[in-house]
Amino acid sequence: MREYTRIYTDGDWTDPVDGTVLDLVDPADGSRTGSVTLAGRADVDRAVAAAHRAFDGFARTTPAERTDLLTRILTEFDRRAADLAVAVTTEMGAPAHLARDAHVPTGRLQITTAVEVLAGTPFTERRGDGEIRREPLGVAALITPWNFPVLQMVGKTVSALAAGCTVVLKPAETAAHSAMVFAEIMDAAGLPPGVFNLVPGRGEVVGEALVSHPDVGVVSFTGSHATATRVAVAAAPTTKRVHTELGGKSPQLLLPDADFSVAVETLRQFMLAMTGQICSAPSRTLVPRERLDEFLGTLVQAVESLRVGHPGDPATQMGPLASQAQWEIVQRYVRSGLAAGASLVTGGLGRPEGLPHGNFVRPTVFADVDNSMEIAREEIFGPVMSVIAYDTVDEAVDIANDTPYGLAAYVVGSDPHQVDDVVARLRAGAVLVNDAPFDWTAPWGGYKQSGNGREFGVEGVLAYLETKVVHRPRS
Ligand code: ADP
Repeated sequence: MREYTRIYTDGDWTDPVDGTVLDLVDPADGSRTGSVTLAGRADVDRAVAAAHRAFDGFARTTPAERTDLLTRILTEFDRRAADLAVAVTTEMGAPAHLARDAHVPTGRLQITTAVEVLAGTPFTERRGDGEIRREPLGVAALITPWNFPVLQMVGKTVSALAAGCTVVLKPAETAAHSAMVFAEIMDAAGLPPGVFNLVPGRGEVVGEALVSHPDVGVVSFTGSHATATRVAVAAAPTTKRVHTELGGKSPQLLLPDADFSVAVETLRQFMLAMTGQICSAPSRTLVPRERLDEFLGTLVQAVESLRVGHPGDPATQMGPLASQAQWEIVQRYVRSGLAAGASLVTGGLGRPEGLPHGNFVRPTVFADVDNSMEIAREEIFGPVMSVIAYDTVDEAVDIANDTPYGLAAYVVGSDPHQVDDVVARLRAGAVLVNDAPFDWTAPWGGYKQSGNGREFGVEGVLAYLETKVVHRPRS
């Protein structure tokens, strides 16, 4: 049980002015795991003022000094890696092995990558008569979601710091366990006061106050499309740079010669292991009509043998959803699929047998899905898969792109020419071919309404930099 009563600003732990207490709940059984005292508008003002004061000095640190600082963060991160993993499992129900082997290492990778990027970034460059300088944008307001908390918090923070920005981080209110461990890591790393600040609070209060604050120079937001719209509107009057990473309805396109075991493994990894709570989840699988029955047979076998269970159990392959609210949302979408006339192949409403409590859901497959149905158009954030049959590859590409989103896409096929042709036609920020490993250091972001800008890797650091040109007289 952890009661987090303080926020982290200006290098110090202090009581928030707002003081509303939010109980934290274990997704696996609904029990209370602690509480967080939320920050309010006055705390945002305090945090931004501290970050603003610190900016002048921090912006003028050398890349070598910032590398040193990132290395200290890495040391403290490694020291607290196990605590972070426990925090993720406690707050959002990720199986313990997944928290340890995926959530935490992907966060760590962002730190080592930021160090590498820093070494290779040309902060000053001569071009013609001019000198191009890349300078930090100012105070960075970082707003993160609950589903991949460590990756998001660490990735945004270290990219901003590598660029020379100071940071005010607002994590999702329910992701307080991991956010507090992260703030403790930053505190232990011995950053100059004000360089990193943490203000846990309600989005519509703390998030909005941050985004509209005149002393914030850049906003990086990961969350829903609806909230991103509010963020963009709130940031507009002060002409801030706003980067958004939003939802997806990612297609998995199985070509006529696809290896279905590869396709199903991808679904296990990117959809089921995360209980569908990942923005890149392959939630629409496009299957050649003549192989539909064969595919459904392979998929159903995999889904029905999946171990859904308590996140602490090492045998668990899929844990609960993060919240009761998310559980209700998933039920609503299953009902929507049934009402629209899709065929329920496996799964469905309610909890799996033997798991009467907690936010557990049944991994669900719908066939006979038309791409116009709600289950095929909206991001569900749950393990609900739509299988759509196609007749020609051209039609499959059209269906894949027939979505307002464009975050990720998956292609499975054996003919490299056909794979390449399809990859070129897909409108998505990341395309995974066959069993390619996911590169967590690559730029990440979406086409269309999946957001704008890219984070992580080189592009992730560039996102926090402004360009200055110095024109000098010819000598
Ligand atoms: P999700 O559905 O994943 O919770 P949200 O977009 O609602 O997605 O939340 C993502 C992050 O945005 C969270 O940290 C949340 O508190 C924050 N947030 C919510 N509303 C606003 C807002 N109006 N302005 C800024 N941030 C917000």
